[in-house]
Parts: sequence; C-alpha cells; structure tokens
Amino acid sequence: QKPTVVITGASSGLGLNAANSLAQSGDWHVIMACRDFAKAEKAAQKLGMPKGSYTVMHLDLASLESVRQFVQNFKNSGRRLDALVANAAVYLPTAKEPTFTADGFELSVGTNHLGHFLLVNLLMDELKQAPSNNPAGAPRCIIVGSITGNTNTLAGNVPPKADLGDLRGLMNGLDGRNSSMINGGEFDGAKAYKDSKVCNMLTMRQLHQRFHESTGIAFASLYPGCIAETGLFRNHVSLFRTLFPPFQKYITKGYVSEEEAGRRLAQVVSDPSLNKSGVYWSWDNTKSSLWFEEEEGALENTVSEEVSNDVKGAKLWEKSVALVGLE
Ligand code: NDP
Repeated sequence: QKPTVVITGASSGLGLNAANSLAQSGDWHVIMACRDFAKAEKAAQKLGMPKGSYTVMHLDLASLESVRQFVQNFKNSGRRLDALVANAAVYLPTAKEPTFTADGFELSVGTNHLGHFLLVNLLMDELKQAPSNNPAGAPRCIIVGSITGNTNTLAGNVPPKADLGDLRGLMNGLDGRNSSMINGGEFDGAKAYKDSKVCNMLTMRQLHQRFHESTGIAFASLYPGCIAETGLFRNHVSLFRTLFPPFQKYITKGYVSEEEAGRRLAQVVSDPSLNKSGVYWSWDNTKSSLWFEEEEGALENTVSEEVSNDVKGAKLWEKSVALVGLE
C-alpha cells in the first residue's frame, strides 16, 4: 500500500494544489477530505490528478459528528496514515453577525480550530502506527498557520490583530450567549479568523510538546506566502479582491501562486530534510526581504509572542479537549 496523506479542504486553493503535487509525485495516495464531494472531484479532474492517486472522502469540519464519521470511514478503508494536513479554513471578514457550527461554536474558530483539533486527536493512533517506509521518513502532522502568528512582519501586524486574551469567551463555550470571540470581546469576523489561526499554531506546539517524543510524529506548521487568489477571500468586498493580488505581488512581495504554495505544502509533507518537529516553516519570497538573510527554500520562522506562550497553549488545549468531547 502506498503512503497515505489526508488533506482537509482539498477542494480548492492551497489544499487542492498540495494534493495535486503529492498525487503527481507518484509517491503518495491522497485522501481529499472535503465537505463538497462533487466540487473536490471536479477540481481533481481539472488539474489532471491521475485516477487512483486520490480518494475523495466527506468531511465537514463545522460538525463534530461529521469529524467522528470521517475518522470511522477512514479507519474502515483499511488505509495506513502517514501524514495528516489540517488545511481547511473559513474566513468571514465582512460578517456583521457571528454564525455557528452544528455544535454551536462560532464558525471560524469552530471550523478552523475545534474541528481540526478533534480530527488530529482521533487520528493520532493511526499516524503513530504508520510503517516507516514513507518518503518523509516518519509520520507527519501539519497544521496550516498564518502570518498573523508571526508579528515580525508588516502583514502580521495589520489590525484587527489576533488576541486570545485570557480565553474567557472560549471558557464560556464560544456559543454567542456570552461572547462569540475567544477573548470575550465584540464579534469581528476578520479577528475571529486570525484568532483561529493562532489556535492552530498553539495546537501544533502543544502537540509537539505532548506527543512528539512518545510517538515519533513530527508536528509542524507553515505560512506558505500570501496566496491572494484563493477562495479564502470569496467573502471579501470585490474591490479588495481586485486590488489584493497586485498589492501583494508588487508592494509587500508576499504573493505566491496557488501552484507554488501547493508545492511548498507538499514539501513540508514529504521532504525528508524537513523532519523537524515543533517548527513553523516560511519562505523568503524576495531575496532582499527584511525577514531572512539566508538562502531560498523552507526556513524556520519565529512565532509571535502569543503563539510562543505555552501556558496559554496548555489552557487552550484543556478547554478544547472539553469542548469537542474528548474527556
Ligand atoms: P480556500 O478557500 O481556497 O480553501 C479552503 C478550503 O477549506 C476549501 O476546500 C473549503 O471547502 C474548505 N472548508 C471550508 N470550510 C470547511 C468545512 N466546514 N469542512 C471542510 N472543509 C471546509 O482557501 P486557501 O486555500 O487560501 O486556504 C487554505 C489554508 O491556507 C487555510 O488554512 C488558510 O488559513 C491558509 N492560508 C491562506 C493564505 C492565503 O493567502 N490564501 C495565507 C496563509 C494561510 P469548499 O471548497 O467546500 O469551500
């Protein structure tokens, strides 16, 4: 059996292009874990992903029941699991009011963080048991991060900034009765997304600290660059969608095409040299960039103060365990 990678949200953008890159390599079987089966199948065919190199499986991260069902279906498939990529996300920057998952959590954090949190925990044993003959050398769990988790860049400092505060909104269930924001504040869709990405990166660090040594799984996160043309920005105003790609291309130089971003994610999944656990990978797009001085290729980046706060990370972990019903 070929090494298997599960990629959530593989029906468009970064996930789709990483799926394509790994499927085309011939080394991997790709499970495209998607909420829209037909869209994923059509996208895979459009990119010419070889028949038999991928399987589309239903997963709606906005429902914990669907996450549990996906895990059961995956186990029933009898496939090995060598790599898990938590990639799917929703971004609702223009939403005036919060919306909620099937379990009543604010949608961005509920989908991007809590859905993935349950998924990763439920698949940990499968990953741990992966045979050693995979291209990466050892099992990997990758959680896609964001520039908002490294405030050493201009883009990481654009308001509204991520801020989980003392987690009081999360402690109260994030269900809108007290607050739908993790820090207990007023709803802000753009901030909720950024908060969810900070949760993703805190989770990756917690996973590393709690499980790397005992399981051998390498946990990592990455910021692939600004993929300004993906569906992520579908809910933004149209002027933004027109101006954002050239702005990123020519002003910030953070722009990266969907294909290149997909190759970067595939590299983090499969390249044996990127086997370090607990790290956050980024790339230098502009050799003269202010971020890095070294050579091209994936580089270990530093994380923001909030992401490096392991006390906060542990508190987030404990409450997430309770909210997704893992206790
Ligand atoms: P896309 O919108 O193109 O892709 C997001 C994917 O997530 C889609 O496949 C979407 O499915 C899926 N998804 C959304 N909600 C759910 C759900 N409830 N259940 C299952 N799948 C769901 O955006 P990107 O490719 O840009 O984003 C991918 C990742 O990259 C995200 O984690 C994002 O935070 C990150 N990222 C993106 C950057 C960018 O500049 N674009 C920069 C840094 C990080 P469907 O097709 O059905 O809508």
